Amino acid sequence: MGTRVTLIPGDGIGPEVTNAARVVAEATGVSIDWDVVEAGEAAIQRSGTPLPDEVLDSVRRNRLALKGPITTPIGGGFRSVNVALRQQLDLYASVRPARAIAGEGTRFPETDLVVVREATEGLYSGVEHWVDRDHSAAETVNVITRKASDRIARFAFELARREKRRRVTAVHKANIMKTTGALFQQAFRAVAAEYPSIPSDERLVDNMCMQLVKKPEEYDVIVTTNLFGDILSDLCAGLAGGLGVAPGALYGEKIAVFEPVHGSAPKYAGQDKANPVAEILCVELLLRHLGEREAADRVWRAVWETIAEKKVVTYDLALPGYTQRPVPPSSCSAMAREIARKVPIVDLSQPLPRPTRASGPTGEIDANLET
Ligand code: NAD
Repeated sequence: MGTRVTLIPGDGIGPEVTNAARVVAEATGVSIDWDVVEAGEAAIQRSGTPLPDEVLDSVRRNRLALKGPITTPIGGGFRSVNVALRQQLDLYASVRPARAIAGEGTRFPETDLVVVREATEGLYSGVEHWVDRDHSAAETVNVITRKASDRIARFAFELARREKRRRVTAVHKANIMKTTGALFQQAFRAVAAEYPSIPSDERLVDNMCMQLVKKPEEYDVIVTTNLFGDILSDLCAGLAGGLGVAPGALYGEKIAVFEPVHGSAPKYAGQDKANPVAEILCVELLLRHLGEREAADRVWRAVWETIAEKKVVTYDLALPGYTQRPVPPSSCSAMAREIARKVPIVDLSQPLPRPTRASGPTGEIDANLET
């Protein structure tokens, strides 16, 4: 029996990219039994709610999930399923590695950063209301707690230690947010003192944005609050080649959910056009988490070689201006098939193209705990 993993295809391009990821996972030979459940728009149509209990039950049971992006209506409608999932399963650490692949799609081919974002509170706490009857004023509460700040800082230092990273930078706005920002800052400093061998520093978020686009190579692990992490991880994805190649993982104490940084890109839904690499690299992260190191290395190398070769790449990696050598774009499914074809035949005796870091908190776990 294989490892049971919940699969949430999601909305928009989600079903296409998760399907692509399944094709590549299968090519590794690692036996995975997918427990497919619907959340988002498909779930509303079927059961009237975007986050049915069966989704939460499945993830709690399997403790592992691969997720596609889920649409959130803008300005009204139902609350974000993504935020609800993180809060209800206490998936407190959103880890978003930004790793440039084969120098393609980026002006910064050396990029190798990881954003560690607190994912359960901050300005995404969902505590917001209109102040007056005619809706001319509104408030959103920025919830910051010592417990969550301490835990995310500790997570960042442990990740830095495990992956032998150079430095941890806390990003906040404690000069203006003198309570919430300062609480996060104090918690970070207290945890940093427990890791004297790992250099650490702090940046205000506005300065950090400028520093990242100017000299990203100076940074390594970035730890920050929910909203700043959401913004900075998209910025870092841009440095590394775009949303199409940016995977992510959400970790709780016992549960890990792997999902790309990108959203449901509704304009490309159903066109077999989106870049599948971000979701495929979520499978790489999942395999590393399972301790399937060789399979994970094969996926990483196959992705790298496919992008480096540039014979079968999606539109975003084929566009003039994003590449030295524009090529005709391939479909999402064709790129996935090409990566899957390479997985069993890539030569792992050669040094792996760097970097292959970005592991979970428990590193290698027994995913069959409850099966
Ligand atoms: P988006 O990430 O869907 O799209 C931003 C841009 O990147 C678009 O131009 C899109 O076409 C492009 N893009 C994204 N993924 C791509 C891929 N794999 N290949 C090629 N191009 C890709 O962000 P958005 O437009 O702000 O959001 C759309 C919806 O997704 C919204 O409802 C939003 O709430 C939701 N969203 C969900 C998640 C999640 O599920 N974790 C994350 C972000 C956004």
